[in-house]
Amino acid sequence: MILPIYVYGADVLRRVADPIEADSPEVQQLIDDMLETMDGANGIGLAAPQIGRSLRLFVVDLSPLREDLAADGEIAPEGPMVFINAEMIEEEGDLADFEEGCLSIPDLREEVERPSEIHIRYLDRHFREKELRAAGMTARVIQHEYDHIEGILFVDRISSFRRKLLRRRLREMAQGNVEAEYPLHLTAE
Ligand code: ZN
Repeated sequence: MILPIYVYGADVLRRVADPIEADSPEVQQLIDDMLETMDGANGIGLAAPQIGRSLRLFVVDLSPLREDLAADGEIAPEGPMVFINAEMIEEEGDLADFEEGCLSIPDLREEVERPSEIHIRYLDRHFREKELRAAGMTARVIQHEYDHIEGILFVDRISSFRRKLLRRRLREMAQGNVEAEYPLHLTAE
């Protein structure tokens, strides 16, 4: 089932999300719904707070970018990845700039600077313990989604100058003055 995406201004996007205590049919259904929602919105990542659930869960699927990334020498993981109760062990390497967007902040892209390599620990959708070291776009998308479960949005990481310029647009968004080509849950409603 495609779920509506919560937009900038929603409290749930600002909460530090809770761990998932145990596997259950509800958790598996939620994962399926999030994958469908991400796909339906042409996203490459989606975190549970974005569909209104304050849980430490996010999904990433770099498949649509795989060919482009390969041309740049990056081998992205194939197919969707599910991260449950993820813990960032380390962010390292050179700082890199990239223009990021977010399904919860439609039509807005801004340069965000992040360390280019990560080391993360998490449970996959079968609750098996995993560790991943990643760089490039894979690292960046995971960092962006990890931020979501910590209550952080990419606009928190842009320069204060840029943030000032966007203040009005973000305020309007929080008031429900926003459109997207996928279903939205508007805070003002
Ligand atoms: Zn996002």
